[in-house]
Amino acid sequence: MAWRALGKKGFSASLTKVFAVTSRYSVASVSKCGVQDSAKVLPASVRHLHGHCQTTSSLSADKDLTFPAGIWLIRCFHASPELLARRREDESLGLKTSKRVKVVNSGKFSKRKKETQAPVEAPYVPPKLKRAAKSMPDKTIEIFEGMTIGELAKRCGESAATIQNIIINVGEKTDSEFDALSIDIAELVAMEVGVNVRRLLSDEGVQILPRPPVVTVMGHVDHGKTSLLDALRLTSLAAKEAGGITQHLGAFVVGMQSGASITFLDTPGHAAFSAMRARGAAVTDVVVLVVAADDGVMPQTLEAMNHAKAANVPIVVAINKCDKPDANPERVKVQLASEGLMLEEMGGDVQVVEVSAVNKSGLDKLEEALLLQAELMDLKARIDGPAQAYVVEARVDKGRGPLATAIVKAGTLVCGQHIVIGAEWGRIRCIRDMARKMMVQATPAMPVEIEGLKGLPMAGDDIVVVESEERARMLCEGRKKKLEKDRLMKLEVERQKLEEERLKTSEDEENEDEEEKSNRVEVPIIVKADVQGTVQAVSDALKSLNSPQVFVKVIHAGVGPVSQSDVDMAQACGACIVGFNVRDLPTAISQSATQAKIKIKLHRVIYHLLEDIGNLIVEKAPGTLETKVAGEAQVLNIFELKGRSKAKGDDVKIAGCRVIDGRLTKSATLRLLRSGEIVFEGCCASLKREQQDVEAVGKGSECGLVIKDCLDFQVGDVIQCLVKVNRKPKFISSESGAVRIEC
Ligand code: GDP
Repeated sequence: MAWRALGKKGFSASLTKVFAVTSRYSVASVSKCGVQDSAKVLPASVRHLHGHCQTTSSLSADKDLTFPAGIWLIRCFHASPELLARRREDESLGLKTSKRVKVVNSGKFSKRKKETQAPVEAPYVPPKLKRAAKSMPDKTIEIFEGMTIGELAKRCGESAATIQNIIINVGEKTDSEFDALSIDIAELVAMEVGVNVRRLLSDEGVQILPRPPVVTVMGHVDHGKTSLLDALRLTSLAAKEAGGITQHLGAFVVGMQSGASITFLDTPGHAAFSAMRARGAAVTDVVVLVVAADDGVMPQTLEAMNHAKAANVPIVVAINKCDKPDANPERVKVQLASEGLMLEEMGGDVQVVEVSAVNKSGLDKLEEALLLQAELMDLKARIDGPAQAYVVEARVDKGRGPLATAIVKAGTLVCGQHIVIGAEWGRIRCIRDMARKMMVQATPAMPVEIEGLKGLPMAGDDIVVVESEERARMLCEGRKKKLEKDRLMKLEVERQKLEEERLKTSEDEENEDEEEKSNRVEVPIIVKADVQGTVQAVSDALKSLNSPQVFVKVIHAGVGPVSQSDVDMAQACGACIVGFNVRDLPTAISQSATQAKIKIKLHRVIYHLLEDIGNLIVEKAPGTLETKVAGEAQVLNIFELKGRSKAKGDDVKIAGCRVIDGRLTKSATLRLLRSGEIVFEGCCASLKREQQDVEAVGKGSECGLVIKDCLDFQVGDVIQCLVKVNRKPKFISSESGAVRIEC
C-alpha cells in the first residue's frame, strides 16, 4: 500500500536524489544520512524502510567495506545481509557478480546502458496504446484543475503509464505521474479512456453568495402545468419589461417586491426533467407538483413525485383549478398524504398552496412558498471564476444562428469567453436576458440566451469556459469522438442483444422464428419538434415502441416545423412524419403530403403521440398465427359403419354430437378430449346435419362428425373445433404512463 501511495517513480526518484548527493562517501555513512534525509522528503508511509537501511548500513560499517557508488547503494537497499555476504565471497574469489549490474545513474532514472547506435533522424511517432480504448458510458469520474496524472489514472482505473501515453498522444508533455494536469486535458484523457467526467470547481477563497432557486413544474397531463407557467410568466420580469408580451424561451425569472427572485424552467413535464437529469444536469432546486383539484392524484402525479424523490429535489404542491365548482383540495391532500408525501399541515415539511391558473389566484402564495423553501435550503453559489452552466433549450435563429438558453449554476459567464457546450463550441458573441436585453455577464441562477455557437447543443448539455479557441476545438473534438464511440458501443450492445435473443428463440422454435423474421416490418419515422431536448425525448419514447414484429426506425430527427424536404424524405423512405409542439402545417405542405400519401401526425401531448403511433404500429404489424378454440361439442352417441368395401375405405366411427359452445366448421382441426385430457387430434373428414353435408354447425345444434383416422370415441367425450387466427399486437399503456407493444 505504501508503495502504491507513494508511486514507484517518485520513490526511486527520491532515492536517486539522495544517493546522487552522497555517492562520494562510504556506504555506512551514506546510507544512514541518506535515508535520514530521504525520510524528510518521503511520506511517513515509507519511513518504516529506514530500519531496514540501518541494518544494511551497520553491516557494511562493521566490515569496513566501501562500495562503488550508485548501483551498490540501490542494491544494498534491496538485498538481504545473507545475499550481500555471498556476493562478497564471490568477489573475493574473483568471480563476476553479473553482467546486468552495468547501470548508469543518469539523474532521475537509472537505466541500463544500451549498445550505442548511430542517431537516426526520424519523425517522432507517439507510442500506440497497448489496447484499444474501450468506452465505459456508465462510468463517471470527478476531475478538477491541477489533479496529478497518478490521481487521474487511479480514478480511470488505468495505469499511470497508459495515461501518460494518452497525454503524449493528445499532444501534451508529461514527465512524471506527479505532473499536474489542467482540467481540460484531464477531461480529454478521461474521454480517451472512455469514461464520463464531472468537473469539480473549487469554491476555496472565492465569494459565495445566496442565489435564487431554479424551479421545474411537473404533474399529470391536463392538470394545468402549462397554464400555471403561462400565468407565472405574466408576472415575470421579462413580461413586465415587455409590457406583458412573453415568449417561451426555456426559462424566466419572477421578481418579488422584497428583491428576491425565482427562476422557472419553462418546459413542463417530467420528460424534460429526466432528459436533463440523464445528462447529469442537476439544474432544478425545487419541483412544483401540480395536481388538479377536480381530478386528484393521477399516474403521472406519482411519476413526477418519484422523479423528484429520485433526484432528491424537494416538492411544493400546487393544487390547481381551485376555481372549479367540483374542486376538492382536501381530497387531493389526503391522496397525496396516502402516497407518502408529508404535507406541512399534517406535520410534514411539504408546503401545499391552492391556486387557479385561470383566475391567477394564489400565485403570490406559491411564489412565497418557493422562496421559503429556497431559504430553508440555503441556496448559495460561487460568484467569481469561470462559469458552470447548463443548457435548458436550444434553437436555431435564421439571423443569429444557434442559440442556447442556459442557466448558470456557479461562477460568471462573460461575453467574449470561449466555451464548450456539450459537443459544440463557440465564442460568446452576445448574452441576452429573458427580456432580450444585452448583458455583459450572467451570474448564478440567471437564465440567459447565448449567441455565437458553432453548432446546436442539446438540453441538459453542460457549458464550460476554456482559455482559448484551440482548447475549445480540442475538447469539442474529444467530446464528439467520445459521443460517437458511446453511440457505436450502444448500437453494438443492442445488436448483440438482438442477436442473442434471435439465437435463443431459434433454438426453441426454429421454424416459427423464421416465419416471424420474414414477417418483421419496419416503420420509418421522421421526428420534428420545437426544441432539441424534445426531439430527443420524442425519439427515445418512440423507440420504446419497438417489438419483435415491428421496428420503429427514426430515420431523421430535427428541430423546427415540418418542411417540404421532410415530406420529400418521407416519400423516398415511405416514412411517417411526427411533429411535436410544432406549428400547424402550411397548406402547401399538407397538400403535397396528401398527394404523396404521407401520414403527418402533429401532437402537443406525448401520450397522445405515442398512442397514435402505437396504433399505426399495431395496424402495420403482421401479427402471429394462434390456435383458438372456436367451438365445443359433446359426444352423445356413437355410430359405427362396418363392412364397407375396400375401395370405399376402412370402418368408420361417427360421433353424434351437440354443439355446446361456439361453432364447429368442417375445414377446422378437431381435438378429442376425455376428462380434460387430449386423446386425439385430426382434421374433420365429414360433418353432417340431418343427413346433409354442411360446412359449419352452430351452438345448440346436433350433428354427426367423423375425425380422420379416429375410431376411439366415447359417449361424454368433448370435441373442440380449432381454428388458426392472426393475433395482432396490442398497444399497452401502463398506469405509470409507460407504453409498449405487446406481441
Ligand atoms: P397541462 O397538460 O398540465 O400543461 O395542462 P394545461 O395547462 O394545458 O391545461 C389543461 C386544461 O385545463 C386547459 O383547458 C386549461 O384551460 C385548463 N386549466 C388549467 N388551469 C386551470 C385552472 O386553474 N382552472 C380551470 N378552470 N381550468 C384550468
